This record gives sequence, structure tokens and C-alpha cells, in this order.
Amino acid sequence: MYILLMGPPGAGKGTQAEKLIAEYKIPHISTGDMFRAAVKQGTELGKEAKRYMDAGGLVPDVVTIGIVREGLAKPECANGFILDGFPRTEEQAVALDGILTDLGIKLTGVVNIVVPDAELVGRVTGRRICKACGATYHVEYNPSKVEGMCDKCGGALYQRDDDKEETVKNRLHAYHSQTEPLIEYYKKQGVYHEIDGLQEIGKVYADVKASLGALK
Ligand SMILES: [Zn+2]
Repeated sequence: MYILLMGPPGAGKGTQAEKLIAEYKIPHISTGDMFRAAVKQGTELGKEAKRYMDAGGLVPDVVTIGIVREGLAKPECANGFILDGFPRTEEQAVALDGILTDLGIKLTGVVNIVVPDAELVGRVTGRRICKACGATYHVEYNPSKVEGMCDKCGGALYQRDDDKEETVKNRLHAYHSQTEPLIEYYKKQGVYHEIDGLQEIGKVYADVKASLGALK
């Protein structure tokens, strides 16, 4: 199973990836992990990527694509993988096709977990975290017994800056403008599947598997 997993922040991608990993014993490959591995192992591309990251700049496509190529060529990816966070642009998607062709791999499916923006904003902006112990709550779905106070340790609950409405909306806007062309790209290849992420977790997972042809 060679899966490309897509979905906005807060859509439950991580949970679905965990289920796929547990059932199919395939690795979860995120570009972040590949970068960290390449830097740690001190590969030529890793060193180059580190120079850009240390300077606070964006790593150029040619380096990113090289790192993805190295990552996917590893033996642990031979029987399948869940790729997450790459490609982010159509140019990268074209490059990924080239890498997969060279490796003799065909994508089983591109799975996009779709949740309406209003719901995502609610999920993320309702999050509250304990300053003292890090426990997480949600004002609506998982509220603390006393408002603003942690059930476990009595610490004060707060909202992370990343979870504030403006920030979340900006992130979603960036996500949509980035992924729109990718959706068209994979639709044309006939490998694109949209999954309703508003359903309960088990149903989302059943749909993910069905879209991959694992279960009819
Ligand atoms: Zn606490």
C-alpha cells in the first residue's frame, strides 16, 4: 500500500495514519521526519538542508525532492508507506511521480480527509491546555469540570497562540490555496479519494480502507 495522505490541520490525519500503520505495518513518512533523519545521518543533502534551515530560510525544492527520493528508496518503504506533508506543490507532485516511476512504485491512492473549515476552526480554537501539567481539554467536546481549571492538577488552562482564530484561519487559507491544484492533479490520475472527516473515527477509517480497495 503506497498511500499519500492529505488533510487540513485538525482533520484527524494523525489518528488515521496510526490505524493504517498498526494494521498494515507500513511506515509513516513525513517530510519533517525525513529532513531530521537526513540531517542526523549527515548525508550530503542533509547537510545542505541544514544550511538553509540554520539560516532560517526555506529549503529549495531540489534539496527537498532529493531527500524524499533518498527516504522512499530505503528498504523499509519497499512494501508500502504513508506519505504525509509532501508534495505541497504541483511541481513537487510531478517530481514525486518521477521518483515513484524510478522505484517501480505506483500510488495505491491519494486520500484526502475533508472537514469543513468552520468545524476545523471550532475544533482548534476550543482547545485549552493546562499550564502546569500539559493536559488538553476542549471547551465543547472535553470541558474541564471547573472552567479554566485543570481536573488533574488544578492548574490554569490557556489557549496557545497557534490555536487562536486568526492564526487558524490563516493556516487554513494557506492550506487550501496550496492543495487545490494538487487535488486536480491527482483527480486526473484517477487515484484521488475524498473522505468525509466529520464521521466518527471508525467510520472514517472504514472509508479510508474502502477507498484504497482494502475492503469493499
Ligand atoms: Zn493540569
